[in-house]
Amino acid sequence: MKYILVTGGVISGIGKGVISSSFGTILKECGIPMTSIKIDPYINIDAGTFSPYEHGEVFVLDDGGEVDLDLGNYERFLDITLHRDNNITTGKVYQHVITKERRGDYLGKTVQVVPHITDCIQEWVERVAQIPVTEDNNPPEVCVIELGGTIGDIEGMPFVEAFRQFQFRVKKENFCVAHVSLVPQPRSTGEPKTKPTQASVRELRGLGLSPDLIVCRSEQPIGPSVKDKISNFCHVAPEQVITIHDLSSIYRVPLLMESQGVIEFLITRLQLNLPIGPERPRSFMRKWRDLADNFDHLRKSVNIALVGKYTKLEDAYASVTKALQHASLEVGYKLNLRYIEAANLETATLQENPVLYHEAWQQLCKSDGVIVPGGFGKRGIEGKISACKWCRVNGKPMLGICLGLQVAVIEFARNVLAWEGANSTEIDPETTHQVIIDMPEYNGSEKGGTMRLGKRSTKFKECTSVVKALYGNVEAVEERHRHRYEVNPAFVNDFEAAGLKFVGQDDSGQRMEIIELDGHDYYVATQYHPEYLSRPMKPSAPFLGLILASVGKLKSYLARGCRLSPRNLSDNDLSDEEDFVKNSKIKQVK
Ligand code: GLN
Repeated sequence: MKYILVTGGVISGIGKGVISSSFGTILKECGIPMTSIKIDPYINIDAGTFSPYEHGEVFVLDDGGEVDLDLGNYERFLDITLHRDNNITTGKVYQHVITKERRGDYLGKTVQVVPHITDCIQEWVERVAQIPVTEDNNPPEVCVIELGGTIGDIEGMPFVEAFRQFQFRVKKENFCVAHVSLVPQPRSTGEPKTKPTQASVRELRGLGLSPDLIVCRSEQPIGPSVKDKISNFCHVAPEQVITIHDLSSIYRVPLLMESQGVIEFLITRLQLNLPIGPERPRSFMRKWRDLADNFDHLRKSVNIALVGKYTKLEDAYASVTKALQHASLEVGYKLNLRYIEAANLETATLQENPVLYHEAWQQLCKSDGVIVPGGFGKRGIEGKISACKWCRVNGKPMLGICLGLQVAVIEFARNVLAWEGANSTEIDPETTHQVIIDMPEYNGSEKGGTMRLGKRSTKFKECTSVVKALYGNVEAVEERHRHRYEVNPAFVNDFEAAGLKFVGQDDSGQRMEIIELDGHDYYVATQYHPEYLSRPMKPSAPFLGLILASVGKLKSYLARGCRLSPRNLSDNDLSDEEDFVKNSKIKQVK
């Protein structure tokens, strides 16, 4: 097993996650089975209790692990399935050590940060790196470990010390360090400044780790003279300095890293046996090049409104945004995403701040399609319900996710079934019409946790369903969940009789997973979170449906047996009707 430790210098938030994922991507493209570990030095056991405002979204894994959103980057870039143990936090490490201490495993010794915490970290990394993360169950050969935060943070110290020891434990040829640093270019001079990088490399060295690669992030491209300067002052060869300036899309990051000789460096440094020779085949990294080029050449855009409650921090909807991007790119459209604060759509806002209210409604009305993502708690619920009503009544494409499904059901109950005051017991426990209720999940005889988390199966019913067609007419799909409340099965018949169809359910038939509205082009919602399994080259079906419907191409896509016309990426000027007619003519002529 080979390890690449990625550390950060100067400040966080400069794309260390994407750079770490890109190391994985370029080696995976060479045919090496990859895995990754993310270390978050905070005390929380996992990300489950985080407010999306502080840390961005909580990412959910197949096994139900609630983890840092960076794990989402790894899964998407490397197309792998990680496990909850691939995310290490200080809390998890201490919990593990303290449990052992209580059991008496340390035989009366004083339990200390060094060696007990540092040993636990090393054993954890060695154990988890071996776990297969792909369907073929092949053991990984290289593990990228991203250490969150920046070098010098108090919280990160035990981890840095653990890796200082680890480099000797696994031997030099199996371990290297890539240090991601910032090279600011102050407006006043425009000149790139290397001092902060020098200082952080010095700090890293002082803690016993030497960088093998220094990855410099900057706004503008950095010239060779600055590279030389960093090489001189940081005591590394020029080819060990990699520069990454701001790029048109994240898909360009692995390409830019590869073009600077990262693979050649890693082959020598880690003594890698590549399954391909030094002459790379022409198909090498082609998928990424195509993706990046397609992204840069999109001419038309699709306007999507996201009606949420954590709209001030875009990271709060990171996977939803990525899934929308994957789907838009597939259809050949640039995603124009507008975040609408759900509460601003409520009549209370009209009284308090009419400008905000009207602006929010204008954004909603201007959009081609609407997404109502997941969420918790009361704030903004009525605004989301109004957004659903507007989409339902005006034939606007809508995709609801988790809470989005629940509000669509509440809206239908109130405005179509005329069940005034219908609500979820999460919002109003006293409601006369409890259309969304708490349905704890029992695992065998044992009561599970309070949340239904992770991968579960959804079976499609015997009926025509757009979502089923978008998934490729499969019998069942497996997607990830994170919720507590669900549609009350007692009312399912009433909803269906009025046109709101529950086209997918869990194995027991009691949990409603997918809704579709009769007579509407695309009014769809899922109780699960399809965004977690969306990939740049494999967009998620419900998201693809939303984008297709929003640009008026859903019908022709379905009529073609779920295929996009080859012209889609070059010519997206045709409407659904024209497109379809033109295509049928081509077929007739042939
Ligand atoms: N709050 C809702 C529930 O617990 C929805 C959760 C979500 O959207 N992730 O069921």
